[in-house]
Amino acid sequence: VISPQSALRRVLGHARPLGTTAVSIVDALGHVLAEDIHARYALPAFDNSAMDGYAVAAAATRAATPRGPVRLEIVDGVYAGDTTRRVLRRGESCAIMTGAPLPRGADCIIPVEAARVDRGALIVIRPAVRGRHVRRKGEEVARGARVARRGTLVHAGTVACLAAAGRRTARVVRVPSVSVISTGDETVTPGRALAHGQVYDSNSHMLAAMLRAAGIRTVRVASVGDRPAALDRAVAAALRRTDVVLLTGGVSVGEHDYVRRVLKALRVREVFWRVRQKPGKPLYFGVRGKKLVFGLPGNPASAFTCFCLYVHPALRRLSGLRGCAPRVEERTLVAPVEGDRTRWSFLRAATSMVVEGGVVVLPRQGSHMITSLAAADRLVVIPPGAGALGAGARVVTYRLPYEGVGA
Ligand code: AMP
Ligand code: MG
Repeated sequence: VISPQSALRRVLGHARPLGTTAVSIVDALGHVLAEDIHARYALPAFDNSAMDGYAVAAAATRAATPRGPVRLEIVDGVYAGDTTRRVLRRGESCAIMTGAPLPRGADCIIPVEAARVDRGALIVIRPAVRGRHVRRKGEEVARGARVARRGTLVHAGTVACLAAAGRRTARVVRVPSVSVISTGDETVTPGRALAHGQVYDSNSHMLAAMLRAAGIRTVRVASVGDRPAALDRAVAAALRRTDVVLLTGGVSVGEHDYVRRVLKALRVREVFWRVRQKPGKPLYFGVRGKKLVFGLPGNPASAFTCFCLYVHPALRRLSGLRGCAPRVEERTLVAPVEGDRTRWSFLRAATSMVVEGGVVVLPRQGSHMITSLAAADRLVVIPPGAGALGAGARVVTYRLPYEGVGA
């Protein structure tokens, strides 16, 4: 029986980033870049207008006053997408739209809102300022400069940079594929009626959802009951087809707990079994080659906690991310709690709406209880033997790895 810290260290020690693959830049979302991305052209690629208005040469307006306006003939306009190079002559101005290339001879823009036009001429009543409302070529990024760094996680803003750099595809670290295999003759797919002695299978659905929230695209789900032969077939297929195998249930010391025996027969090497924690003590972790196998306990809250503490960090590491441990935040207890004498406690908890910086440990902490899973946004971590902690005590919390709105 090892400590949670040692368990995480061993898991991450066996999780190496997967290989790389080239994908379209939108599909790169949620992946880690495996290459630096350089701009194919300067950004902007040419001097252009930041406003709809009139392009002029500032020098031609130097003497302009309200009483002595300068009159500049308006020649035909330039529009965004015009690819011919235009030249403005002395005494001329031209209409120009946002994003249109600045004609040679012009060096600033008078916005439509500030312009007076009279019979085909621009009437300028004060000197225009050189460079005003012009986006200079290369002002943001020089041609060939790096716009995104290898090792960064691609989000929507990164995709914008890849596109602006002229890339259609990018090389990224592969995101792991994952199998979920739930055991338990008592489990029934939700939607059907339960016979006496049966429970709905929450684990495979919960895990599929947690994987989806973690950005895992390929998830295979199977339910095998408690027959060793079916379990063996399912695990063998999972090891063939996916990078990570998650089993739930059957990993404890019950008479029908076949998981460890079956894994051993399939040459999965046990790295550890059982962690000094509550919930989730029966956790198993093994490897076969580069494949990682987690035997999560059957109790839903235990499987949930083990996923947050070990599986999610492993998925991050496989995907090429650094910083894989759960995110630590200190909080103040709003009510007393008591940890375990010998094990680390990971209590489902929620941010307090009443006390700033406070955290509420939720009721119904039993490892078979699920309502606190829905209400929790963090786990409160209590070391073994910490005794009773009073309201106001500072505690370490781990943010749950939920993505999306409000995360
Ligand atoms: P086990 O780890 O197989 O001994 O299961 C421990 C507890 O978790 C038992 O009460 C099981 O009925 C329950 N359990 C196992 N698998 C699931 C599941 N997929 N969904 C909900 N509860 C489960
Ligand atoms: Mg079972």
